[in-house]
Amino acid sequence: MGTAVLVAVILIWIIKDTSRRGANTLVWSVFTVVGLGLLPLIVYFLVRDPLTLDDHMADKLNNDVLKLERSYYAFLMDEQDRKCPVCGHEVKSRYRFCPACGNELHTVCPACGELMETNWKSCPHCGHKVEQPEVKGELV
Ligand SMILES: [Zn+2]
Ligand SMILES: [Zn+2]
Repeated sequence: MGTAVLVAVILIWIIKDTSRRGANTLVWSVFTVVGLGLLPLIVYFLVRDPLTLDDHMADKLNNDVLKLERSYYAFLMDEQDRKCPVCGHEVKSRYRFCPACGNELHTVCPACGELMETNWKSCPHCGHKVEQPEVKGELV
């Protein structure tokens, strides 16, 4: 009689806890009844996931937020920390020309049209190889 109550209590607890932790509730319930509660409970304590599903979710969420923050700051840094090498005016990384002095900050890939740093030898977007342009002064 005492055992039945104990098994019932443990069973209820196991059902609750397995569903919180994403464990197989049916398997653990059967195991609990067959094993008369106490032994399965001990085994369950040893093998159960130390984190509940909520914990997992919170963990994942934290990671995602961290990642997002990091890429956001990287983006901000990239946007803010550039200066025109000629006049020192602050420029955005997506600018092609310096708005203050007209210096060319980026070239455009002739194959795919994406912005490229002026000293890049091949396009990071499409792999197009770029011949280094001649020094502009000689053309004039
Ligand atoms: Zn400039
Ligand atoms: Zn390209």
